[in-house]
Amino acid sequence: MKAYQMLINNRWVEAAGGRRYEVTNPATGEVLGTVPDAGVEDARAAIDAAYEAFPVWSRMPALERSRAMRRLYQLIMDRVDDLARLLTQEQGKPLREARAEVINGAEFVNWYAEETRRIYGEWIPGNSEKHRIWVIRQPVGVVAAITPWNFPSSMITRKIAPALAAGCTVVVKPAPETPLSALALAELVLEAELPPGVVNIITTTDAPAIGQEFLTNRKVAKLSFTGSTEVGKLLVAGSAQQLKRVSLELGGHAPFIIFDDADLDLAVRHAVGSKFRNAGQTCICANRVFVQESVAEAFIEKFLAAVKALKVGNGLDAGTDIGPLINEEAYEKVESHVADARSRGAAVLCGGHRLTESPYDRGVFYAPTVLAQVTDDMKIMQEETFGPVAPILTFRTEEEVIARANDTTYGLAAYIFTRSLSRSVRVGEALQYGMVGVNESLLSNPQAPFGGVKESGLGREGGHHGLEPFLEYKYMNVMLE
Ligand code: NAP
Repeated sequence: MKAYQMLINNRWVEAAGGRRYEVTNPATGEVLGTVPDAGVEDARAAIDAAYEAFPVWSRMPALERSRAMRRLYQLIMDRVDDLARLLTQEQGKPLREARAEVINGAEFVNWYAEETRRIYGEWIPGNSEKHRIWVIRQPVGVVAAITPWNFPSSMITRKIAPALAAGCTVVVKPAPETPLSALALAELVLEAELPPGVVNIITTTDAPAIGQEFLTNRKVAKLSFTGSTEVGKLLVAGSAQQLKRVSLELGGHAPFIIFDDADLDLAVRHAVGSKFRNAGQTCICANRVFVQESVAEAFIEKFLAAVKALKVGNGLDAGTDIGPLINEEAYEKVESHVADARSRGAAVLCGGHRLTESPYDRGVFYAPTVLAQVTDDMKIMQEETFGPVAPILTFRTEEEVIARANDTTYGLAAYIFTRSLSRSVRVGEALQYGMVGVNESLLSNPQAPFGGVKESGLGREGGHHGLEPFLEYKYMNVMLE
């Protein structure tokens, strides 16, 4: 069993308190290794390292920063297979999804390696012949990043790539369930020869204490968080004291809307992909499937056939479509949503239970589930399920479905399937979401601003927009002699 170490200041270190914890495979319960269990002292050491590295990295010519980031990108791409395997082992998703995640995450590094060369300023007319107004953009400083377990690799690269491009240095705290992908990236940071302290990765089971240190340590300029809305709100409250810059990528409750003029086969393919990717554990998973009444029967028949054909299993096995849930807590949430829906009259068209026979008995596996006769008062309609459960609802008119889709405090992703350009524009503009997929369900692109409105977040990751949160404007009013 491998004993991993954390990366602080380009050195592999133990936690100062000497503690470690085990990382397990959610499909088998097997212990994959142990990692240091960092405390506040370690977080401070990582922040100090990032703080010392900031002048070096931020003043480095953009071309050199770009080259360093490209080396990191290339190293990730060279190791895709190993990284994907490790990711599947600690997180559970099927190997092909893990590969896609690693590649997508690497592409953020590649894209921002280019973007770092395009951080321009402005020249504005001054108030007199002798005045010149310059606007420059400078990196905010040390960035603390907190990431979730559902995308153990790309949630990290999606944060460190724009931060590094802006000239910031970083301390990353990955989720305790999935630290191995983070430490594998740390290895590549070393190989890519990024200067010491530019990227530091600490593993811990004490998120509240480390989070508090990030919020109160004056050397940290900004916090970038991906996770639940609940924790996001805590961090915003905590950031007030020092007005710490905060970016948040939070939960979602995505409506997936199928109009009667849609290509039904396409809609089915995307609905299955969007709902069951990562066993339903993504922030942009379809959480409510709305089908226009006249095509509901035809859609449900095709959708059900496709869901019944999904193969549940260990993500490492060829042919697996759905892996395990991350842990018992995740199962309890899914089960409570299904039980509540059942008790309020929903029909379970398939699934609706845990898989307990061998080989499923060693992990937390849930049968892909489709619910019909779902009503708006059910728990599944109010909260993010984060599991492989598709509630199907019907609607009559465009106005009705827009109102129902918007009737939530979340606002991350929404999907519409229609062949009408006019309708896609009308509905797309009316949906109160940060992202709308039109006849498409894949939304994470390095060149596009990923993120939510309402209680789904603050700020965007991706695109030139994703650089903004890591930069501050400085205006200089210059009077010539
Ligand atoms: P979570 O419980 O909020 O945890 C996310 C991260 O925050 C973990 O590293 C966690 O560590 C840490 N954390 C928890 N409490 C903290 C505190 N008081 N201070 C500082 N850090 C703290 O979320 P999750 O269950 O892991 O992830 C799933 C959620 O993430 C879902 O809601 C999903 O929609 C959202 N998500 C959003 C996006 C997006 O781009 N919008 C992408 C992926 C996931 P511990 O586990 O040790 O508590």
